[in-house]
Amino acid sequence: MEIKIENYDVELIMLDRYEHLSFLLSNSYCVACKDMTTVINYTPYLNRLNDIIFKGFCINCGGPANRYVEIGENPESAEVAKHIKNVLQISKKKKK
Ligand SMILES: [Zn+2]
Repeated sequence: MEIKIENYDVELIMLDRYEHLSFLLSNSYCVACKDMTTVINYTPYLNRLNDIIFKGFCINCGGPANRYVEIGENPESAEVAKHIKNVLQISKKKKK
C-alpha cells in the first residue's frame, strides 16, 4: 500500500538528508531512455517499508520515471514516516 504525502512531509521524514533531495532526483534511471535522468513533476508516496517513492516524469523523454529513496533503515526517519502514515490514515477514515 502506498500513501500520497506532501513535500513538507518529505522534508520531515528525510531530516538532514533532505538537502540531498535534488541530487537524488537528478540521479534517477529512466527505463525508456536507458540512461540517468532527472525526475520532474513528481508526487511523493510512502510505501509499506516507510521508504519514499517519487513518482514523476523523465526530463528527457517525458515518460514516467520513479525515484526510490530508502528511508526505513534510518530509525529516526522511519519513526517520522510511521507517524505521518498514522495521521493520514486517521484523517482518511474521518472523511468517510
Ligand atoms: Zn526518459
